[in-house]
Amino acid sequence: MTDANLFDRLIGANPDPSRIAIETVDGMRWSFADLAAESGRLANLLVKRGVKPGDRVAVQVEKSVENLILYLATVRAGGVYLPLNTAYTLNELAYFLEDAEPSLVVCDPSKAEGIQAIASKVNAKVETLDAKGKGSLTAAAATAKPDFMTVARGGEDLAAILYTSGTTGRSKGAMLTHDNLTSNALSLVDAWRFTEKDVLIHALPIYHTHGLFVASNVTLFARASMIFLSKFDPDVVIRMMDRATVLMGVPTFYTRLLPHPALTIESTRHMRLFISGSAPLLADTHRAWSTRTGHAVLERYGMTETGMNTSNPYDGDRVPGAVGPALRGVSVRVTDRETGKELPRESVGMIEVKGPNVFKGYWRMPEKTRTEFRHDGFFITGDIGKIDQRDYVHILGRGTDLIITGGLNVYPKEVESEIDALAGVVESAVVGVPHPDFGEGVTAIVVRSRDGGPTEEQVLKALEGRLARFKIPKHAIFVDELPRNAMGKVQKNILRDKYAGLYKNG
Ligand code: AMP
Repeated sequence: MTDANLFDRLIGANPDPSRIAIETVDGMRWSFADLAAESGRLANLLVKRGVKPGDRVAVQVEKSVENLILYLATVRAGGVYLPLNTAYTLNELAYFLEDAEPSLVVCDPSKAEGIQAIASKVNAKVETLDAKGKGSLTAAAATAKPDFMTVARGGEDLAAILYTSGTTGRSKGAMLTHDNLTSNALSLVDAWRFTEKDVLIHALPIYHTHGLFVASNVTLFARASMIFLSKFDPDVVIRMMDRATVLMGVPTFYTRLLPHPALTIESTRHMRLFISGSAPLLADTHRAWSTRTGHAVLERYGMTETGMNTSNPYDGDRVPGAVGPALRGVSVRVTDRETGKELPRESVGMIEVKGPNVFKGYWRMPEKTRTEFRHDGFFITGDIGKIDQRDYVHILGRGTDLIITGGLNVYPKEVESEIDALAGVVESAVVGVPHPDFGEGVTAIVVRSRDGGPTEEQVLKALEGRLARFKIPKHAIFVDELPRNAMGKVQKNILRDKYAGLYKNG
């Protein structure tokens, strides 16, 4: 087997000891050689804890450099890295751990007790890691040897599993291979002209494809460096622009930075590139950003299952409201949703993609995997869009009713099921309506039984602890009945239109 392990390509066999890969705002620094040594210690520990090639390492921790090194160490040891959103409750975690059957779970010390109970059911060991990079994991790794022979992997072997929720409410684990991650990062380095001179402001979470693979892998591949922020903070981001060259963000970053008085042509002068993705960037935001800073935001489009598919050009028109042409090596087409027949340019249909970036399938869901791919290997994204005369892709909406709030996905069905289970509730429909801060605000439309039912406050309170905070509706509105079409389907578009102005004033 020729070795295709992503780790060796990210860090290199003989990293330049002096080159800085990561720094934090409080002045901590990690060179590429430090990443090699620290990931070596952790990889030795993982092996000692019984992690074998192909084993899953599930990780639900706050963002820290040690967390990123744990990702590198897992891949290096031949394991499969499985990050989980820190907002998931124990109730939600039980599903992921039972489905993925990891051999090791790493969690925040505050959650260790609850997770231990779930982990023991699947015979997984538990280690802890806190927001400061401290815990049983790093304590044990401190005495381990830094040298570690990277475990050889084939290009088709799994490097990571990232869960994406399903419209039926069941989450699916997207299986990503060493080749998927390598090919996508390399084409982005090229498309966005990353070099070792670049300094990325890394303010994204690293349990998601955007912060973990796009931001981190691209920077490491380019031998560039990143300023690692524990979270997005407009003041800090603007302060860092003096030394940085690139910002990658979700649209919410841009809408939150725009009102900041310190955002000017002068304060962004050192920056060469602002990138946006994970949700639609409003054309208005794009224009306002150009006017304020003189920079045209470069918008790209991707998803957990595919990595990045399209990008506006580095040189050439960055069109507001469009996500640009397909990346090198990626094929994008638009088809008739029902027949799968390819449609001509400018026609609206289902966006489908094919390329080395496209995942291997859903973990332990061969049937689901089969139905999401066409016979000729194209993956059916679920996004509705069109391709224009210049090959730019435009995303017009989602086939499913996925809600994206603050860059995070919420599948209505999952929230509806929890609401419907409450005493006195007949049924509910959960939709996303425009929200000035979050892009979309999760909103529940609820039908109560005739003889009473919960108040708005009672509905929202009942969801706490059942659902991650970002999935909990901002409002529950009561109606006598839901609008339905002739086939009996709830017409969510009518609800979205009706409540479009709900969050107008924040
Ligand atoms: P995720 O798997 O969490 O990355 O979410 C992927 C989904 O986010 C895609 O299928 C799109 O619906 C949406 N998305 C990502 N980037 C964009 C973009 N630039 N414009 C519009 N929607 C986007």
